[in-house]
Amino acid sequence: MLTQVYPQTNHLYAFELNKDMQVSAAHFIPREDAGACSRIHGHTYTINITIAGDQLNESGFLVNFSTIKKLVHGEYDHTLLNDHSEFSGESREQIPSTEVVAKTIYEKVDAYLKGLENRPHCVQVFVRETPTSYVVYRPKQGEPNG
Ligand SMILES: [Zn+2]
Repeated sequence: MLTQVYPQTNHLYAFELNKDMQVSAAHFIPREDAGACSRIHGHTYTINITIAGDQLNESGFLVNFSTIKKLVHGEYDHTLLNDHSEFSGESREQIPSTEVVAKTIYEKVDAYLKGLENRPHCVQVFVRETPTSYVVYRPKQGEPNG
């Protein structure tokens, strides 16, 4: 496995948790100017999700690692991303580019975290698509869901 060095995110929370996972999935970019990417092909995505907070739950967790894996890996592994409703529309927010995949994972994880009593926050999603290409998504400070 490729050794990953992840970019750090600045936050003031006391605890920070990072969950790594690999997701094998196919996708295509449904645009004529996407070249080879417009044809269906696959990647082994390396995903790192950073969650931070000040409070732990009754089990002493910020959040359960396996739940975070289930949310993302459980849904996308060995699938065609374009088959998922969040990636099958016509708008640029629904094209499964690395950027949009990272933002969509953030939204999915943060929606789950909003329901937890200790209310941790997702502060960064790192998605590596190939050995030489990756994207980092961080919610903008001050956004309603940030
Ligand atoms: Zn691709």
